[in-house]
Amino acid sequence: MIRSEQLFAEAQQLIPGGVNSPVRACRSVGTIPLFIASARDAYLHTADGKRLIDYVMSWGPMLLGHATPAVTQAVVEAAAKGTSFGAPCPGEVELAQAVVDAVPSVEMVRMVNSGTEATMSAVRLARGVTGRTKVVKFKGCYHGHADAFLAAAGSGLATLSIPGTPGVPAATVADTLLAPYNDLDAVADFFETHGDDIACVIVEPVAGNMGLVLPVEGFLEGLRGLCDKYEALLIFDEVITGFRLSYGGAQQRFGITPDLTCLGKIIGGGLPVGAYGGKRALMERVAPCGDVYQAGTLSGNPLAMAAGLATLRALRTADYAALEQRTKTLAEDIAAILRGKGLPVTLHHIASAFTLFFTEGPVTNFAQAAAADTELYTRFFQQMRAAGINLAPSAFECAFTSFAHTEEDYGKTLDAVRTAKF
Ligand SMILES: *Cc1c(COP(=O)(O)O)cnc(C)c1O
Repeated sequence: MIRSEQLFAEAQQLIPGGVNSPVRACRSVGTIPLFIASARDAYLHTADGKRLIDYVMSWGPMLLGHATPAVTQAVVEAAAKGTSFGAPCPGEVELAQAVVDAVPSVEMVRMVNSGTEATMSAVRLARGVTGRTKVVKFKGCYHGHADAFLAAAGSGLATLSIPGTPGVPAATVADTLLAPYNDLDAVADFFETHGDDIACVIVEPVAGNMGLVLPVEGFLEGLRGLCDKYEALLIFDEVITGFRLSYGGAQQRFGITPDLTCLGKIIGGGLPVGAYGGKRALMERVAPCGDVYQAGTLSGNPLAMAAGLATLRALRTADYAALEQRTKTLAEDIAAILRGKGLPVTLHHIASAFTLFFTEGPVTNFAQAAAADTELYTRFFQQMRAAGINLAPSAFECAFTSFAHTEEDYGKTLDAVRTAKF
């Protein structure tokens, strides 16, 4: 028995499913998780003494690579000064300034501890500001695990085939209106029927939790137009896309201005951070400035702020265009090899993210993504792991590259794809 098997057996006695977040259990790809002892650059080092080239990158946060010296040093220095104060610290002001400078629509920002908290709080604010209750959400978009979003939520829920989840009262999701991604007409219909009750539309500007699915031409612009017409708020959930699609996120790349923006993952540089922000007039409705309550004992934590700040400082001058070009080449090469083996492949890529769907496509929404062959993905995942390549343990996720991945890593990855058998 390898060490990961021992640890997983112990973990299953102590932690539900042996994991603290379901998809890590690797059930949908028919295997068990490898326990990670350490990580550096593009590599994971397992508790079993194996090295893997990583394309999960902690599900997104590690755009600079694992254990980047500048980030590690910032965290160590901060830790030596105390790990939590329950009072404001200078790092909060610095990170807030960095976010306001980076993200076009954000004039004020509130730090929280996860993406889940960011989206949950943004929707509360939208409801508070508009005095309306309904929320439009897209099937296959994931906005964290708050009750209101756990209807057709993609990602972990997609592979577990749970339609929503027990424990969420019907009344809580009754105000969540579900539309297919990229279907502007469905949203327009909702507004025609419920226009006076819709507080907000929340969307991943590029969907990353049903695999990578890009917005079709006019979709995001159309949402902006509908929200303006009916005086509802447009919320971009940029927990994945923020600082990844460009330094200013999807909104900068596409030139569309949401009312509220949710951030997470990269903003914490691998520590637990989320944030939501927007126009000053909206954000001033948040307590104690305004009447919409939201709080957090560890929010603005000095270690997390230091990690986020060090990450953003490095990203501000990073060559996003070069990373996008390298990622595109890698993804296209992988797709070509797999097609050469006679497999149906639809490739989506943008910036430093890509997904290979084992289907002829097209894939523009969750129903089409769900039609991809998950058996083929399982075979692909298992053989890549055996060859030292770590892909996401689910067919409905992105592969992420980082500034730490080298041409040599890509070469090894392509070799592994070439030798895979289906
Ligand atoms: C990961 C994710 C979240 C939730 O963030 P957590 O930090 O896991 O709570 C929300 N929205 C999107 C788009 C995500 O990818």
